[in-house]
Amino acid sequence: MHHEITAARKIIEEIPEKDRGQVESIEIEVGELAEFTAEELKQSIEDLTGWKVEVKKVISEIQCSCGFIGQANILNRQGHILIYNCPKCKSFAVRPLVGQDIKLKRVVSY
Ligand SMILES: [Zn+2]
Repeated sequence: MHHEITAARKIIEEIPEKDRGQVESIEIEVGELAEFTAEELKQSIEDLTGWKVEVKKVISEIQCSCGFIGQANILNRQGHILIYNCPKCKSFAVRPLVGQDIKLKRVVSY
């Protein structure tokens, strides 16, 4: 619970303090393999600020030693522990290429 508030604050703090009062909505991009789900972050930011938050989910991309490159097979998420493997050979020794980041994409002011 507290971790996602920290993540939400980090996003909020990317906007200069003097401008935060004028924000109407923001758009964030949340990777499928990020520590927090798009829904958790949206809720936390909205609770902290009252801004409208639009979320774009980013599909993951992993690289496996079997040669597979593509979307991770997500098995389970418990809190911010995410378990995923290669959908082709089921190996857990995969390297995430895309999908771990949370980014502020757009700020709409009044
Ligand atoms: Zn594989």
